[in-house]
Amino acid sequence: MTISSDSTVTDPSADENQPWGFWRLLDSRIRPEDWTDAIRAATGCLEGLPAAEHCADSRRMMADILSEIQFGPNHWRLSRIKELYYRLVRPLLPNFLRTSLRTVLLSGQRNECALNWPIEDRYVRFQFEIVARLMAKRHLDSISYISFWPAGKQFAFVLTHDIETEDGQSFVREIAALEERYEFRSSFNFVPEQYRVDLDLIAELKERGFEVGVHGLKHDGRLFSSKAVFDAHAARINTYLKQWDAVGFRSPMTHRNPEWMQALEIEYDLSFFDTDPYEPMPGGTMSIWPFMMGRFVELPYTLAQDHTLMVTRAERTPRVWLEKVEFIRRYHGLALLNAHPDYLRAPRHLAIYETFLKSVSERSDYWHALPREAARWWRARAAANVKNGTIGKAHPAEGEFDFTVGSIRLADEGGIVL
Ligand SMILES: [Zn+2]
Repeated sequence: MTISSDSTVTDPSADENQPWGFWRLLDSRIRPEDWTDAIRAATGCLEGLPAAEHCADSRRMMADILSEIQFGPNHWRLSRIKELYYRLVRPLLPNFLRTSLRTVLLSGQRNECALNWPIEDRYVRFQFEIVARLMAKRHLDSISYISFWPAGKQFAFVLTHDIETEDGQSFVREIAALEERYEFRSSFNFVPEQYRVDLDLIAELKERGFEVGVHGLKHDGRLFSSKAVFDAHAARINTYLKQWDAVGFRSPMTHRNPEWMQALEIEYDLSFFDTDPYEPMPGGTMSIWPFMMGRFVELPYTLAQDHTLMVTRAERTPRVWLEKVEFIRRYHGLALLNAHPDYLRAPRHLAIYETFLKSVSERSDYWHALPREAARWWRARAAANVKNGTIGKAHPAEGEFDFTVGSIRLADEGGIVL
């Protein structure tokens, strides 16, 4: 698929990200002014967030939330001490020291973060409250919408991995085999100029139904040091994307900048998250669903990184992941995991990962997809034509997505149920 450069979607305030573009309701009785009123009425759910100050201008508010700009114009700049650490100190340290220094560097950060963790539900409740208000105003007991996921499944389940080092790369086959045992497939993101990338492995993974993506250019913390540096790196990243026939990207250490990243020739990005106070740039988009970020689809990761769960938090079970999956299912979101073969090499970590896979594999209420499939689905759903209550296929070239009509009801205890 090619992405048109004259896309009407150039920023997070685009229609696709507005509540009406998000919900895709199938009811001609709802008027534009109903949306305006409902959005304003539901803003109470966003209490304590800077974005709520712009409730009179929903486009601005949604852009502030999804781009994270609500946390200030310096949000994507690393503090001086972190910058020095990631560029100069970290590359020289052995792994075990990186881990403990990282923990020291990030300690205290969690309390400063404006968002809750591991579950940040304000934006999620806000979206649901909007529809509850719309239905109440129009006296509707139920309303139809285009289901969030194929076949009306209750959530999407996507597995992704970043390969940090040669050691991590040597463990990829092991992870792939484990996932195959539970009938899962995932994406593996390689760093093109950090270690000798095994092109045979890339070919084999694709052959086995896995996906391959790009994880920065090097892993040295410099990618976002200036716009000029980023642009120069982006040109080379784009070359690797083409060479590997890849369409997805995740930035090393989730350093990120939604504007600069528009230079990447990708269908989707994985560098953002709903909430994560443990990253060098903490924060989050609060969204447990994909959304449009300019020319590409953003697939925020919504499950804690393996490193955070197993090392920083020293959890011994996948409990935190499974509880989050339950929350995501309730709101029909995207459960997306960002894991690392480098960390999963430790047998006790791999055991937690396997318990998690086993537990999810026993359910039947989710759509398991590769990230590129999830991104294409989301784009197609946003563009699906609705005429006289039936849904047309907007992107016939993109494959056979079958949209289903879901039903939203008012719940007895208030709010809505999907
Ligand atoms: Zn990485």
